[in-house]
Amino acid sequence: MRASILLLPGDGIGPEVVTAARGVLDVVAAHYRHEFVLSEAPIGGAALRAGLDALPAATLKAAQAADAVLLGAVGDPAFDREPAHRRPEAALLAIRRELGLYANLRPATVWPGLESAGPLKPEILAGTDMLVVRELTGGLYYGEPRGTAADGSEAHNTMRYSRHEVERIARVAFDAARGRKKHVTSVDKANVLEVSRLWRAVVNEVARDYPDVMLDHQYVDACAMKIALAPSSFDVILAENMFGDILSDEAGAVVGSLGLLPSASLGDGPGLFEPVHGSAPDIAGRDIANPVGAILSAAMLLRHALKLEEEAASVERAVTAALSSGIRTRDLSSAATAHSCSAVAREIANSIAAINRPALT
Ligand code: NAD
Repeated sequence: MRASILLLPGDGIGPEVVTAARGVLDVVAAHYRHEFVLSEAPIGGAALRAGLDALPAATLKAAQAADAVLLGAVGDPAFDREPAHRRPEAALLAIRRELGLYANLRPATVWPGLESAGPLKPEILAGTDMLVVRELTGGLYYGEPRGTAADGSEAHNTMRYSRHEVERIARVAFDAARGRKKHVTSVDKANVLEVSRLWRAVVNEVARDYPDVMLDHQYVDACAMKIALAPSSFDVILAENMFGDILSDEAGAVVGSLGLLPSASLGDGPGLFEPVHGSAPDIAGRDIANPVGAILSAAMLLRHALKLEEEAASVERAVTAALSSGIRTRDLSSAATAHSCSAVAREIANSIAAINRPALT
């Protein structure tokens, strides 16, 4: 297959982890005989430093023309005192909006050998492998009317969803579940909120098209508790914008290091794939960042944007092999045994060809 992939390294550790992911994509292309046309464009602080907007028009145009976009991270303390539109983070909101990315997917998996990396007891964490599917462009964060009274005495926001918005995100969750353990947990607060009652009704309707997928409903407060008490009981969690925002952070926290977490944001056009972490200025430029979140984001790109399931799984197998044999950056190991960012990336890239089935000829 031929595919064009736009790389947006961004700021801080962004370029280091994107270089790592690029190396993996190069190996996948060579091993499975694909042609990935990789190009780069500036975003965030890197763009601002070059005298451009945080999301330059040319970068947006290149993103819209690509099959998929892989982003490192944005954020640069040099712009902390600038107004909102002159800050690197403005680029993130803008690109998500311009690409119409309504579905945010965040897997949280416990990797072999890392059962003790999170705050939970290893026996509770064992077997955890969940995917939070969060609605990204509606709900309380976008609903109108919103505002603050002129005298500051009160403020209001609106949680609003149309049937269409609920249906399309529900389909993303059910489709994802089909490639996993075939179980969707839809999260709402239907005992209190009318929006949640609509949400639940539409999710039930969509479920009829997926008789092979089990559906249950949980109230958001109960779900938050269960993620901490029994994380392995979940497969796909489907949630509106704010509930998903909170639950995906919780799910990420229970499995351990921020550096391991990937994400995908999907719409009707090119998807955006990025590690969950930020630009980590405290460790930037030292080749010590964990590249796994970015590499797993590249795996999600292969799976969701290019529909290359075997290739995506091959990257995940290589990550498993590296992590379980102790090839880890220093956020996951002692200083004495830690590997550099580039060494971990090289190990994962090298093992893709070695541990996977031979390429088709
Ligand atoms: P951060 O995720 O950058 O860092 C938090 C902590 O985790 C730091 O101690 C960092 O060293 C560590 N860490 C993060 N990624 C790591 C990795 N791959 N390997 C090892 N350690 C890692 O969050 P922050 O410090 O709150 O934010 C720094 C900047 O990043 C800010 O400008 C913020 O606005 C921005 N940010 C960007 C994104 C994004 O681009 N999606 C997300 C969050 C924060």
